[in-house]
Amino acid sequence: MTHDLFRQDAYLPQCDATVSGIQEQGIVLDRTVFYPLGGGQAGDAGTLTLADGTVITLLDTRKGKDAEGKPTAAIVHVPAPGQEALLATLAVGTPVTARIDWARRHRLMRLHTATHLLCHLVPVPVNGCSISPDGARMDLVLTDPLDKDLLTAGLARLVAEAHPLTVGAITDAELDANPALVKSMSVAPPRGSGTVRTIRIGEHTLIDLQPCGGTHVANTAEIGRVVITKIEKKSATTRRVVLGFAETSPASPSAPSP
Ligand SMILES: [Zn+2]
Repeated sequence: MTHDLFRQDAYLPQCDATVSGIQEQGIVLDRTVFYPLGGGQAGDAGTLTLADGTVITLLDTRKGKDAEGKPTAAIVHVPAPGQEALLATLAVGTPVTARIDWARRHRLMRLHTATHLLCHLVPVPVNGCSISPDGARMDLVLTDPLDKDLLTAGLARLVAEAHPLTVGAITDAELDANPALVKSMSVAPPRGSGTVRTIRIGEHTLIDLQPCGGTHVANTAEIGRVVITKIEKKSATTRRVVLGFAETSPASPSAPSP
């Protein structure tokens, strides 16, 4: 399995790691800062640097799969094509430095956190969610129309209010006793260890609390200016809300030094 450092600290830009497996899909490390595609959030891109300075470019990160296609606890780093000769030098035990594309990840963290704010603004079940570096979309189970400008204004208010986020945990039993905490019909809570990771937004005022395994910013102020760009009627009972950044060239803070 891969120790997923990003679950405790989403701001880690890099880590030292050791190759623990090489699969057809990509490279498995013993520990990583790379988030694998899941819960609607895109997998991270970045690089692996070998001891001699050689750099392997990674395009994506996925959860490992066993022979039957079931997800495993391994995290697979997917190399860009055309690096076969380089990859052939890797073996189990090879030390590497794994570094995410921080600017890209920070955009994902900002948009992902904004989708939690949408759960507060439109408190209905979510039936699909997709977060890429340039935009996010959420399918809300809703028959009433939504107002784009009102939602954008609501997001701006919650960003300006600068609510802190905290990572918590509840037991599987507590989650079973509070099914209303689960807002997504399409993404199962990250169970498996007896406890489920939760994300709370708001300190004194509760803005949102739900199980989530993704990466988020530490405070809603860090989301910056986001706008609802489109609301589509996807079906009689589903409204698709599309959001993106207001600015053309986002100012991502530089990654904290390792
Ligand atoms: Zn989340």
